[in-house]
Amino acid sequence: MDSKKLERLRARYADRGAFDGDDPVLLRAARDVQTGDGRRTLPYSGVPTFLGLPHAPSVDGLDIAVVGVPMDLGVSNRAGARFGPRAVRTIERIGPYHPTFRGVPKGRARAADVGDVPFHSRYDLAHCLRDIEEYYAGLRARGVRPLSVGGDHSITYPILKALGKDAPLGLVHIDAHCDTMGSYDDTKFHHGGPFRLAVLDGVLDPDRTIQIGIRGAANMFWEFSHASGMTVIYMEDFMRMGLDAVIAKAREVVGDEPIYVSVDVDGFDPVFAPGTGTPEAGGLSSREGLALLRGLQGLQIAGADVVEVAPQYDPTTNTSQLAAQILFEEFALMTLGEAG
Ligand code: MN
Ligand code: MN
Repeated sequence: MDSKKLERLRARYADRGAFDGDDPVLLRAARDVQTGDGRRTLPYSGVPTFLGLPHAPSVDGLDIAVVGVPMDLGVSNRAGARFGPRAVRTIERIGPYHPTFRGVPKGRARAADVGDVPFHSRYDLAHCLRDIEEYYAGLRARGVRPLSVGGDHSITYPILKALGKDAPLGLVHIDAHCDTMGSYDDTKFHHGGPFRLAVLDGVLDPDRTIQIGIRGAANMFWEFSHASGMTVIYMEDFMRMGLDAVIAKAREVVGDEPIYVSVDVDGFDPVFAPGTGTPEAGGLSSREGLALLRGLQGLQIAGADVVEVAPQYDPTTNTSQLAAQILFEEFALMTLGEAG
């Protein structure tokens, strides 16, 4: 480097602050991430909330409510997803700037952590599902879009019942499992069957549903996915097609009408997300899953979730870290990623 260049750099940068720069998009982002006094809140300080959003005791006036659903009465194997919301709240330093959508989601919407769905009974799964449906019907009536952290995957059925009441939604579903099983151990309510129930209730359109990352050995339970016309991308299809083709297929399947996005963390390989109840080897990597979600930019998203985080099986906290990042990607899709 010649001395002139060094002089130029000194003149320009020696006394500039961290938020100072020339790119107008980044300057706006810098404004969006600062508090009123020109600082940033300490990421490790204060009462933990989802994505560091403010806590709101009421949903009135919000565009997006981030909701915890700490309920895991629907699991078929290892329990623990009831601890998912708390674990995801403790993750700090996610966002607030989105590097590919180039913006700060919380600067573009009135969004808050509204706490957890209130449950009447800790023992009664069917009752819990009714509590969830009622809560989300209330959000929908107020025009608030929900972003949810489970809980096991049984919670997505009552959410879809509330959101798809007037017109069935499309679905992008990332999971190791299709979750379209029938009754099992004398109950149709469990985390292996929310999407079958949603289709049969007329709140989910199977022709506008794509399931991605499917693997394991439970194929005998998933006839309904194929019989109803869902598009199922098994992991071997994913590897053969490649990421871009899977994104194109997803966009083709769901179209321009409103969709729901549901991410089961077991869709990711247990190397990345071991903290879950039914892990399956051979899944998506973190970078594949995040790229897949970013590929949904421009779609109309009525709501989204990340489920099945059971933090006690992951002493590294990587599963919660990934889940918080997924939550942020969904938040970004709902605020920065939409058309218009
Ligand atoms: Mn699932
Ligand atoms: Mn699963």
